[in-house]
Amino acid sequence: MKTLNFTDLRKSIDQNEVGREMYTLIAELYPICRSITGDGFRKTLEILRRDIPLKVYEVPSGTNVFDWVVPKEWNIKDAYIKNSKDEKIADFQKSNLHVVNYSVPVKKVVSLKELKEHLFTLPDHPNWVPYKTSYYREDWGFCLSHERFVELKDGEYEVYIDSTLEDGSLSYGEMYLQGAEEEEILISCHACHPSLANDNLSGMSLAVFLAKQIVPLEHRYSYRFLFIPGTIGAITWLALNEEKTAKIRNGLVLSGVGDNGNITYKKSRRGNAEIDRAAYHVLKNSGANCDIVDFYPYGYDERQYCSPGFNLPVGCFSRTPYGMYPEYHTSADNLDFVQPHSLGNSYFEVLSILEVLEGNCTYINMNPKCEPQLGKRGLYNSIGFNEMAMLWVLNLSDGNNTLLDIAEKAGLKFDAVFIAAKTLREHNLLKKVIT
Ligand code: ZN
Repeated sequence: MKTLNFTDLRKSIDQNEVGREMYTLIAELYPICRSITGDGFRKTLEILRRDIPLKVYEVPSGTNVFDWVVPKEWNIKDAYIKNSKDEKIADFQKSNLHVVNYSVPVKKVVSLKELKEHLFTLPDHPNWVPYKTSYYREDWGFCLSHERFVELKDGEYEVYIDSTLEDGSLSYGEMYLQGAEEEEILISCHACHPSLANDNLSGMSLAVFLAKQIVPLEHRYSYRFLFIPGTIGAITWLALNEEKTAKIRNGLVLSGVGDNGNITYKKSRRGNAEIDRAAYHVLKNSGANCDIVDFYPYGYDERQYCSPGFNLPVGCFSRTPYGMYPEYHTSADNLDFVQPHSLGNSYFEVLSILEVLEGNCTYINMNPKCEPQLGKRGLYNSIGFNEMAMLWVLNLSDGNNTLLDIAEKAGLKFDAVFIAAKTLREHNLLKKVIT
């Protein structure tokens, strides 16, 4: 049987079906209380390992990673606030967002005044619960809806957080897939948020499906998938794997890929890296509205990959960007907010970008003195052949232009140029330049 490649896979994709499968995985992961360390993160990796051969790494608390230190490990069993009538007004068992993530343990009775110093709400969206963290400051707190908050009466409240914050480790998952070449494509996503669907169970599910479907394919590049806690995970990975970064030819951070907004591609810091040009080419030709934005130094882990000491060619693929939708970091980023058709479409476009990278080789015309006679080879005026693309490929294949360069100069889709090059290769009119 013929080995499948990226083009075969892209053509066989049913976006709705993939989107539904991605959604099913998101729904399974959604209830787990994740954080940047701890058992929720590990349990998540265990679930992902059913689908892909992920290796799990543990980095001890206290490990120095550039200017940062791997924090203590946080775990939680239960938490609530009870009023004097013994009624729970915030309950971790109902939603893990009710507890400020990384809260230290607490068990005491407090006045309403003291309690309010530890409460977070969203007055502009009174029935949503915010998502808050306290990673690098030992404190405790609760999040609740503003509707609930304004109903609180004077009196005493019992606050209880059954958590631990102790020396342990930071976990992350990594999958490496050897390709024909040593150069790599990095796919990274943060996997540390608790019950939030778009940010970033969506990016995780996209990465899992991609990894799963690339495994049986014939592929040129090696692929490295990272499922890491945001910021500290990327910093930790870069600090412990600095020598591997020289092989990263292209990379994508995947986040927020399931909402109904347009696709947004944020360029790498380099601005004109191959990944930036491939993403631009695919998205501009996709027929859908999309936004291509320049790099800026906040957002997701592209901040670390694109810090000046690394300056890796890593862009960020999302739909509505980081922080630009009201549901961001709230209980409204739930299973209703992500849509299977958006997930499937994001998957398709990422796959299409990778397909361009895989096929973006440089060739040399073996018959460069005047045009070769295409007619005698059955390549002229024959139905199904894109003569214009062949003429462009023949003319620009002087060893200096990649197929993407040619597609851009010719104003043609990469696909047409790629197929023309394949045909010309089969007729010994082109030879691949080994770079
Ligand atoms: Zn986030």
